Amino acid sequence: MQPASPPVQQIAIVGGTHGNEFSGIYLLRHYEKQPQLMQRPSLACQTLFANPAAHAANKRYLACDLNRQFKTADLANPALTQLEQLRAKEINTLLGPKGAAKTDLIIDLHNTTSNMGPCLILTQPGRFYDLMAAYVHLNMPSAVISRDEDHLAADEHALLCTLGRYGVIVEVGPQPQSVLRQDVFEQMHEMTQHILDFVECYNTNTLPVLPKITPAIRYLHSIKLPVDAAGQRLGMVHRNVQDRDYLPIAPGDAIFTLFDGSEIFYEGETTVYPTFINEAAYYDNNLAMSLNEQVEIILADADTQGQVGISRGAL
Ligand SMILES: [Zn+2]
Repeated sequence: MQPASPPVQQIAIVGGTHGNEFSGIYLLRHYEKQPQLMQRPSLACQTLFANPAAHAANKRYLACDLNRQFKTADLANPALTQLEQLRAKEINTLLGPKGAAKTDLIIDLHNTTSNMGPCLILTQPGRFYDLMAAYVHLNMPSAVISRDEDHLAADEHALLCTLGRYGVIVEVGPQPQSVLRQDVFEQMHEMTQHILDFVECYNTNTLPVLPKITPAIRYLHSIKLPVDAAGQRLGMVHRNVQDRDYLPIAPGDAIFTLFDGSEIFYEGETTVYPTFINEAAYYDNNLAMSLNEQVEIILADADTQGQVGISRGAL
């Protein structure tokens, strides 16, 4: 059995990275009033409200998207001085610095307007993430595990969660911008609790028996709405695709309906699985959806046998 060292002890739960995604903001407030909900014996957990200025304005961001400002080179670039760029540097000081972070794990809480349910997004590969994915999916079968550009080095990732030694995104929808839905809030809370429970088990070598194979999806690329030469939209997401996140799109399936009544068909060569379908926040760049492939997360045999009863690792 491989040791769980070094343990994952310093945890930051981040909400409000996007100011109009309300579940994470309210979940932070909930945890701050009841800190026992985020504490476990082997770890220390803090909260961070990432973009309160954007939340006060009821917007996703004020100058630029905070969750695109965390490339290592950008954090070190003194020419980047917009509000969110400066806030990213502050957060890098608070939780990082990126590459040598004092924070072992960042859990960044997000909402989508798309019908994605509870989704755990991993931006890096590795055993810790594979074990977390298996644990979360085992305990929350409705959770979808998504690998998002985990081939990129952390330095090249612009996402806030990549600031930590480890980092994940809890992405839950559908929830309109600036709205709080009970079902979405409770799913975000549940997934966050499973992640914290997982870290406790990981640190203390008490993981349960985990499945050899956990289903997941892996991001391929995004597709845009069709526009004319002037940039005006020619159509919209097809009704057969709307709200059907994760369900297959095969070559030849209709994906857009144009205002002239015609349809646009998917021209890829393989079946793909869409996410962030018609996401409201992506309207400024005409993104229609992300496309993914199905993959499997496969654990080593030694990691599928459970650790309960094995002597607890020293912390
Ligand atoms: Zn977000």
